[in-house]
Amino acid sequence: ELRAWQQALRAQFPIVTGHPDLVYLDSAATAQKPRAVLDAVQTYLTTTNANAGRGTYTWANRTTTLVEQARDRVKRFLGDPAPERSSVHFTSGATEGLRTVGRDWLPRFLADGDEIVVPVADHQANISPWEEARRQLARQGVHVKLLPMPYQQASGDYDHTALADIAGPRTRCVAVTHVHHVYGGDMNIHRIRRAVGPDAVICLDAAQSVGHLPVELSRLDADFVVFSGHKAMALPGSGAVWARQARGPEFAPGGWSGTPNTVGIASLVAALDWLDGAGTERIERWTVALAARLTEALRHLDAYEVLGCRTSLAADSPVQRRQGIVTFRHRDIDSGDLGFILFSHGFMVRSDSHCQGGAGEKSDSVRVSLHVYNSTEEIDRLLSVLTTLG
Ligand code: PMP
Repeated sequence: ELRAWQQALRAQFPIVTGHPDLVYLDSAATAQKPRAVLDAVQTYLTTTNANAGRGTYTWANRTTTLVEQARDRVKRFLGDPAPERSSVHFTSGATEGLRTVGRDWLPRFLADGDEIVVPVADHQANISPWEEARRQLARQGVHVKLLPMPYQQASGDYDHTALADIAGPRTRCVAVTHVHHVYGGDMNIHRIRRAVGPDAVICLDAAQSVGHLPVELSRLDADFVVFSGHKAMALPGSGAVWARQARGPEFAPGGWSGTPNTVGIASLVAALDWLDGAGTERIERWTVALAARLTEALRHLDAYEVLGCRTSLAADSPVQRRQGIVTFRHRDIDSGDLGFILFSHGFMVRSDSHCQGGAGEKSDSVRVSLHVYNSTEEIDRLLSVLTTLG
């Protein structure tokens, strides 16, 4: 039943169906777009295109309404339990979103001696903004400390015991990632709130979770949720920050001071509609199952080392569930070379150090990242090539 559902969805991606000899396995970098998103872009540009927030004629009004309604659409997509007490700010992607929180908002909120917990093995986009905030404050004579949050390979999660030890009464902000972009683990962010207490601001980098699994605000207890539109099937140059207005200075950057990426926002609305129609819960089940298939098979091939968490499908498992990201190395073949070899067979993977920050695994590895358009057959074809190289 899930297979027939997946085949029907896969058929809606022209770039996938148009290239039967190629296999796209780099969705953690950016996702492919369904026909509905391409159509929405075409429709917007051929019927409505105008600037937003100014102008009194129909197209301008419609564009302004589009942007305003898109904010509500993002809230609805995230299951916002109190939409009247939150705001949505559109950005060019997760990098700009995290920078907006870290550099533009956070410094107004911190005092001498405050602390920010920063995850050292995360994407650089979730490390630099907090370092920038610290530098910016230091220039004003305000000294804040960055506390490195460690990561535990065996469980595929942050090291929560260590976090409980490092977080203290001066901890004002914790930057966490929902799904790790190299290890693929769905981080147990419920435990973060318990470790840091009710007053700290939790900023969630949801670049690898929004569009891949249900991201329900009512179950997350985050103050900021930052995501990337292009990884959620919208156009590049789109993304958003959802902010809870519960505490601290109000988060209201921008307003109508510049031209928003109206085409990107139109594509984001179409992408969220499409994802809700497809069902993020089923998308998650599909990509988790594909990743499990690949991870389990690689474990039986001596030449490969899989990074990050063990695959686990059990909801109550102490080991975090691996989402659709599998990163590995070959014992003898350099990861860059392995990437070229795989592409000579039509597989598009990422092979480098994946923009991982600080104390992460700095050496290169090959990352296979999946979305709902990927099929079981594609994984089996990949495995047969990897097996011949073992
Ligand atoms: N955070 C994570 C976890 C990511 O994987 C990425 C993209 N690779 C980013 C942030 C940056 O996202 P964007 O490309 O939208 O700036």
